[in-house]
Amino acid sequence: MKKKSIRAKITLWFSAALILVVVLTYFFILSVSRGILQKTIRDSLITTVESNVDEVEYYTSLYSDMAGNDIDYYMRYGNGYIEIDDDFLDAVNDVYTSLCQADGTLIYGENPIVLATSELGFQDSAVQRIRVNGTLYYVFDRQLTLDGLEGLWLRGVVSEEQGETELSAISRTSLILQPILVLIAVLGGWLIAGRVLAPIRQISETAAQIRQGDDLKKRIELSDGNDELHQLADQFNEMFSRLDDSFQAQQQFVSDASHELRTPVTVIRAQCDLTLEEEEASPEEYRESLEVIRRQSKKLSRLISDMLDFARLELQPERYQKEELDFSALVEDVCSDMALIRENNITLTCEAEPNIRIRGNRELLTRLLTNLISNAYRYGRSDGHIQVTLRSDPGHSFVLSVQDDGIGIAPEEQPNIFRRFYQADPSRSGKGNGLGLAMVKEIAEFHGGEIRVQSEPGAGSTFKFSLF
Ligand code: ADP
Repeated sequence: MKKKSIRAKITLWFSAALILVVVLTYFFILSVSRGILQKTIRDSLITTVESNVDEVEYYTSLYSDMAGNDIDYYMRYGNGYIEIDDDFLDAVNDVYTSLCQADGTLIYGENPIVLATSELGFQDSAVQRIRVNGTLYYVFDRQLTLDGLEGLWLRGVVSEEQGETELSAISRTSLILQPILVLIAVLGGWLIAGRVLAPIRQISETAAQIRQGDDLKKRIELSDGNDELHQLADQFNEMFSRLDDSFQAQQQFVSDASHELRTPVTVIRAQCDLTLEEEEASPEEYRESLEVIRRQSKKLSRLISDMLDFARLELQPERYQKEELDFSALVEDVCSDMALIRENNITLTCEAEPNIRIRGNRELLTRLLTNLISNAYRYGRSDGHIQVTLRSDPGHSFVLSVQDDGIGIAPEEQPNIFRRFYQADPSRSGKGNGLGLAMVKEIAEFHGGEIRVQSEPGAGSTFKFSLF
């Protein structure tokens, strides 16, 4: 299908509408003007004939001073004379007036369609219409009633075409002017549409550049403004930023994950090579090698299963159903299980306000608490103490805190510890892989809550999980 730009479409529609309006207006004005002109013509016909009525008089005899008046017109009629005053308008503004006898015989004045009107009966003070050779004429008759003039009529005739010259002048001017005006409007519309739609072109160009160059750092740069298109561009820019962020996070994750996966695999391969190269390895040496391989495999499989858990929680959150559960009981159960660890002679006590019920996923919440307590053991001091507290909190629905008196976290490390694979001090992490706290954060957000840390190096750390 042929591509049509929005600009062309807008201009096309706008022009079509404009042309339609102009054409309709043209015909409307023409018909109104015609109506007005016709009325003016009829009025002028009536006025002319009416004014002529007083210009016709009858005298029984002529006086000497009358005869000397050579401007007025006299003619014999019956037993006397008819005087036609010099003010009699027999042909003015194309209105013709004639003096006729009742049988239609013209005795004075002009009538350009005398033949056609001879058949037309007289009607006093009425406008009649008659078509002669395709042209419409208005006819207005007036019966004369003065003594001696009985039986005489004044007949006025005017052609409808009399106004046509003016009308055709109006129509000619419109026919020349209107297309020019339409053309100017269409051109203006085309230019305005171009200006208004320019941001869309920029948006689409930027999108194309991003697609071609895979450069999510590009942004749509528009001139100042706050219309819908500028808002759209802002939304796009925000979307590009978020895509860029998540794309970078994804890349970081892939690179971190491959790095983390490579280490145990490299150790396993090196251990195998070493053992196989040895000509006569003792059973103890084989056992030692296998121990190393088993440890690394465990690390590897834990890493893989943690990464899978992440992917599941992110990509298929619907796999984790939420249910109404007694969170107080869950916390107490996990604590009593983990209190048995007693690693480095660390003791664990739990203080859970009873009957705190929430909607959540049992498996994930258990995981969150286990990760926090494992860390408290891992980074706690020997003979130290872990305190787990659960209480309802005004403003939040509850706050769960896990407090230890271990090594603590330096302030500059604190913003990083929830990142995937981040380990402040890998030598102390032992079995850890840097995914524990990232998972805790993911689970907290999955439940619509948040996780915070307060810590002082050397004094210990407190992790607080709160749900709103
Ligand atoms: P890891 O597997 O290394 O423990 P985590 O994601 O659980 O990974 O934690 C990230 C980092 O945060 C740890 O490497 C550690 O440096 C620091 N950290 C976590 N919990 C504590 C804690 N309770 N006390 C001190 N440091 C901690």
